[in-house]
Amino acid sequence: MAEGTADEALVQFLYRAPIGLIQTSLDGMIVLINPMAAQLLMPLTPDGTLDNLFDVLKAVAPGLRELANASSRPGDLVCDALPLQIRRQRAGHGESQVMGLHMMRLDDTTLMACVSDMTAAARREDQRLQSRLHGQKRTDTLTSLPNRTAVLERIGRALGRMQDEPRYRFVLMLINADRFERINVTLGHATGDEVLHLMGRRVAAAAQEWEGSAPAAAASACMAARLAADEFVLCFDASESSVPAAADAANRLVGILQNPYAIGDRTVHLSASVGLVTGTSAPGNAEAMLEQASLAMREAKRAGGARHVLFEPALMDRARQRGDLELGLRTALTDGHLFTVYQPIVDLADGSVAGMEALVRWRHPERGMIMPTEFIEVAETTGLICELGEWVLDASCRQLVEWQALLGDRAPRTVSVNLSRAQLADSKIVARVANALGASGLPPPCLQLEVTESLAAQDATVQARLCELKELGLTLALDDFGTGFSSLASLHELPVDVVKIDRSFVSAVETSAHHRVLIESVVRIAQSLGMRTVAEGIETAGEAALLGVLGCNKGQGYLYARPLPAEAATAWLMSYKSTSVVLN
Ligand code: C2E
Ligand code: MG
Ligand code: MG
Repeated sequence: MAEGTADEALVQFLYRAPIGLIQTSLDGMIVLINPMAAQLLMPLTPDGTLDNLFDVLKAVAPGLRELANASSRPGDLVCDALPLQIRRQRAGHGESQVMGLHMMRLDDTTLMACVSDMTAAARREDQRLQSRLHGQKRTDTLTSLPNRTAVLERIGRALGRMQDEPRYRFVLMLINADRFERINVTLGHATGDEVLHLMGRRVAAAAQEWEGSAPAAAASACMAARLAADEFVLCFDASESSVPAAADAANRLVGILQNPYAIGDRTVHLSASVGLVTGTSAPGNAEAMLEQASLAMREAKRAGGARHVLFEPALMDRARQRGDLELGLRTALTDGHLFTVYQPIVDLADGSVAGMEALVRWRHPERGMIMPTEFIEVAETTGLICELGEWVLDASCRQLVEWQALLGDRAPRTVSVNLSRAQLADSKIVARVANALGASGLPPPCLQLEVTESLAAQDATVQARLCELKELGLTLALDDFGTGFSSLASLHELPVDVVKIDRSFVSAVETSAHHRVLIESVVRIAQSLGMRTVAEGIETAGEAALLGVLGCNKGQGYLYARPLPAEAATAWLMSYKSTSVVLN
């Protein structure tokens, strides 16, 4: 090829190249510029002069001249993909353009520059970042599952479909670990996080398994998500006919989550409660649907956990009533609407009054008498229980001191006061009990504190607190034995002096040989551990006789007396003749 033709071809190439090419002298004077470069650089030169490249780029690459001066040898790179942000006015509104500049020293006199439009690439990168951020906004960092925002969007879409398609249903399960704080407190947050991670994996695996198959033939797009700390969601599309299968699915999920969790060389036992909404009661919005599921989940917890509860509108009424109770209870304490009743505990061997159990009552100005089974839980969840418990404790200690002064030998030897979970969790409980004893002047051995079986067996912190309480010199009773989780075999691990056998066993003693055997075993084991036994809820003389035969030390129940207000209890104590109700 002739030389002239080659030069011409090169110029043609430079002229058409879809990239801006510029040749300048060392001081930036433009020697050659192709149309693409001119077009790209034009917005930087409002008067259209493209004489000196450094001057043209002054605003967007101010240090370029110095960079070029710093290059000394042919082949030295002046800059590589230097981004140039250019604002251009288009159709009345500003638009940003990004260009990349490469520049190289060619020889002792020449610099070669190349400018390319990187706007599209920058936009793509921007979008990628945006969508990653967007994803992050919808993803839980611990489990990598979708988060609350994603769940709300998913429910929102489902609610939309529900309006358009009458047969479309949506199943939502809200899953919450039972007493998860126990794991964080006893095993540490790192283990807690691992358990949550595994829990998330199990929920996700269930979602995958159910995707497009059982529990509902029409189920699809099953989503597993983490809402908050120990709260997960599993939701899927369903049809009218497949909704009943959702309850089975929720049950299976409870089972799956109840399997032990292996964390390192540790095995962690945990259960979960599930609130189930099948989307038939069409709530107004996604938040409302989650609230329905949460209400059902809390009901499952209230029933003991490790189960599911299906949302129904009646739950809302109950929640409202609880809200009213909560408000009322706050004022009941200050307005003097709470009072204590006392129920005798009788020695089954000689019929003497061994003690009195203090039980709280609420005289509601409109509703009349409210029993503790209805409001203790409300007091626990609102934190009022500590104040309430302290009040019962003070009143009971003072009452026994009063009886001791009034009745002498005929006074009960002890007063028993129930402690709830939240009270034991309160670090001030030991000081509070010591105060009650000190203020009333009651000798510590005259006070017995009752804790439920599941509570006492709970964890090391609770056990340590129970030991601290015992160090005050009082005694501890294990209430409602037989209804909780701990077995006879673990009785020796609990720092208690007395075991109270639950009424459900006692009331069956006359009719069920099985219950008789169980009671006898409790009595024997307790005896071998130096613990005494009390039978709760004795209603007939026959029960009292049998329990005496089985070796139970004391009895409490309607047979002797119902729980009585202080004055009536005093009258009962004064007129009580031990022989009248002892073994018939
Ligand atoms: P608990 O400590 O096991 O108390 C015994 C319950 O059995 C009392 O119910 C009592 O009235 C009832 N009872 C006693 N004998 C009989 C009987 O022969 N037959 C029947 N059917 N029932 C009998 P109450 O007073 O309704 O208290 C229920 C629970 O509420 C108590 O069970 C206790 O766990 C809790 N509680 C009561 N007062 C307090 C309190 O001041 N603080 C705390 N934390 N809990 C309390
Ligand atoms: Mg009790
Ligand atoms: Mg009891």
